[in-house]
Amino acid sequence: MTPVAPGQAVLRIDLPAIVANWRDLGARHGAPVAGVVKADAYGLGAGPVARALRNAGCGTFFVAHLTEGLALRATLGAGSEIVVLDGFPPGADGDARLIPVLNHLGDVAAHAAAGSAAVLHLDTGMSRLGLDAREQAALAEDAARLRGLTLRFVMTHLACADEPDHPMNAVQAARFAAAVSRIAPGVKRSFANSSGIFLGEAFRSDLARPGCALYGINPTPGAPNPMRQVVRVEAEVLQVREIAEGDTVGYGASWTAREPRRIATVAAGYADGYLRALSGRSFGLLHGRQAPLVGRVSMDLTTFDVTDIEQARPGDRLALIGGDGNTPDDIAARCGTIGYEILTSLGRRYHRAYQEA
Ligand SMILES: *Cc1c(COP(=O)(O)O)cnc(C)c1O
Repeated sequence: MTPVAPGQAVLRIDLPAIVANWRDLGARHGAPVAGVVKADAYGLGAGPVARALRNAGCGTFFVAHLTEGLALRATLGAGSEIVVLDGFPPGADGDARLIPVLNHLGDVAAHAAAGSAAVLHLDTGMSRLGLDAREQAALAEDAARLRGLTLRFVMTHLACADEPDHPMNAVQAARFAAAVSRIAPGVKRSFANSSGIFLGEAFRSDLARPGCALYGINPTPGAPNPMRQVVRVEAEVLQVREIAEGDTVGYGASWTAREPRRIATVAAGYADGYLRALSGRSFGLLHGRQAPLVGRVSMDLTTFDVTDIEQARPGDRLALIGGDGNTPDDIAARCGTIGYEILTSLGRRYHRAYQEA
């Protein structure tokens, strides 16, 4: 692996923590659990993440796009089951032996004619992908439409799993159970995402599909996070500047020092997924202390008030994300988004440092 370049920000990814989270989710589910590694494993690197999970015994991986599936097959080699959530036309996977998700009747017809192994997706309330109620009725009336397919699983996806009291959860469980018994009785079912695993017995299936919880995002918002933290983003302090009362910091001169302050300029910004919406609303961790973010986040640089952190020096590494009170979920809450978006926004210029098992 290439070494860290001077001034390069570091994205630390704790693979043993991801594996521990996967095992923990398996124990809670009480049934097999896949690894969802779409969008480059939520920005953390599909190759290293999937290899670590595969080595721990994970047999099935979900990606979103065909291209992600092809890349993952090249990484994992034969043996693992790789399911493509968006589906793909018969033959488009070449010899990669990917498994398409069938999201409408056209997919069903095409892959039945081709004799594919596939996952059948029944929509129960997302109105996004998956056979709608009318298509489900057509399948129930004419089971011959499925002839030729080897159905590995029949799946659905929860809309409100992170809100345990939302009535939609029970509605979807009932719709799914009814549809499976009419359309694909005896076929293995895949139901819960991360949060769904925490909803109880009615949401257990033959294969859960957790993504975010593997990566340390809280699958039970509103309750303490049961998952281990996985990610830490560190950027180098390029300078520590002494500024005088009345001096302003950054674009828009949006922050003014009321007294002499020491400002650390670090080499990461919104191009690295440290969102501009965090301006004035977050902090970094340096020498175990909180350094408030002052002024606006720029593309490549961010400024922190380190007046109270005497040891702060150029060359220090300040943690932008990760650590006490600064998890991806914490960061997300400060700028009106969710931890998923924080992780998948992390840019491409990091040095990625994987802690191996
Ligand atoms: C993204 C996705 C998942 C994983 O969801 P998390 O909330 O990250 O656990 C599972 N199933 C489908 C269909 C998805 O699109």
